[in-house]
Amino acid sequence: MKYCKVCLQPDTRPNTYFSEEGVCPACCYHKELQHVDWEERFHILEDLLEQYPRRPGQYFDCIIGVSGGKDSTRQALWARDKLGLRPLLVCLSYPPQQVTQRGVENISNLIELGFDTLVVGPEPETWRKILREGFLRFTNWARATEQAIIGSAPQAAIRYKIPLILWGENPGLQLGDMKTVGRTGYDGNNLRFMNTVSGGNLQWLFDAGFTPQNLISFRYPTTKEFDSINIQIVYLGWFWNDWSLINNGMYSVSNGLQIREESVIETGDLTRVSSLDEDWVTLNQMIKYYKFGFGRVTDHVNEAVREGLMSREHGIRLIEEYDGSCAPSYIENFCDFIGITVDEFWIHVRASVNRDLFDVRADGCIERRFKVGEGL
Ligand SMILES: [Zn+2]
Repeated sequence: MKYCKVCLQPDTRPNTYFSEEGVCPACCYHKELQHVDWEERFHILEDLLEQYPRRPGQYFDCIIGVSGGKDSTRQALWARDKLGLRPLLVCLSYPPQQVTQRGVENISNLIELGFDTLVVGPEPETWRKILREGFLRFTNWARATEQAIIGSAPQAAIRYKIPLILWGENPGLQLGDMKTVGRTGYDGNNLRFMNTVSGGNLQWLFDAGFTPQNLISFRYPTTKEFDSINIQIVYLGWFWNDWSLINNGMYSVSNGLQIREESVIETGDLTRVSSLDEDWVTLNQMIKYYKFGFGRVTDHVNEAVREGLMSREHGIRLIEEYDGSCAPSYIENFCDFIGITVDEFWIHVRASVNRDLFDVRADGCIERRFKVGEGL
């Protein structure tokens, strides 16, 4: 395990490659951004939008996938108020047992800001079984649901024949998952290859006995379906010189977004603006930490270090202290939902710990073997 020389990204992130100088893709990209002509990029966006005029009978210019969180609130307002577009917002909603009150209020806030919003609610019992299967099989409950969330925008695009989909930041550039990089900086049609989407493969769910009918909401449309209406996913972040976690958070809070009140030791969230609509992503981030040696605190620190808001040394202290944090109440609540005990939960988590990076002691405690910032 090696760390990026600039930030604290480890090379254990799937699909990531460091430069010969030992710098991660996100830092290389951030360095290039210093030389970008943002006005020129805005003209590229204007030209691009002209290629997607509203046709007769088409009531919306584009689709934006939203959760009601910081990124989607800012994108929706920007698309409408700055670009003059009429977007259809598409929200794949968590079932009542999973969604937080804050999440419900944030999506209501977005609707109240004056948007037409399509809310998709997959059948909750199937959703529950799929979470359970994902957790028991991969120690990753979100394996299929993340695909459902990402796939809901192209599914609606096909249904309503709206070819343009606006997306936030390219995860390849922001995080370093290089399989999502497309033909151009803004081309998002390779989002299907994102590590968490796995090319749309649902075979493991068919093998577990789910039917095509069960999985309608979980299917990521094929390239053939994309081509049938020439879908283009556009990463808006490429055109935006101040796209960041903090900026999006501040902008959205000033437009009514509610943020978390819990402490970082419960959430592993330094910013209080992540995954506002549910609590179980936090336990998945904890598991990610045990599998790969980095969690959400590392992601947040890296962004702050790149932006010059935090020193690498301060980042190391925060990661050592908080990465992998998760409130026991989130775990209990999750176990209740999928019908396992907390002991069973930990048996699965300990079995998926990366033993090169961590020791699992006889009493069950998991201890880090690597040194944050230096590696192994
Ligand atoms: Zn880096």
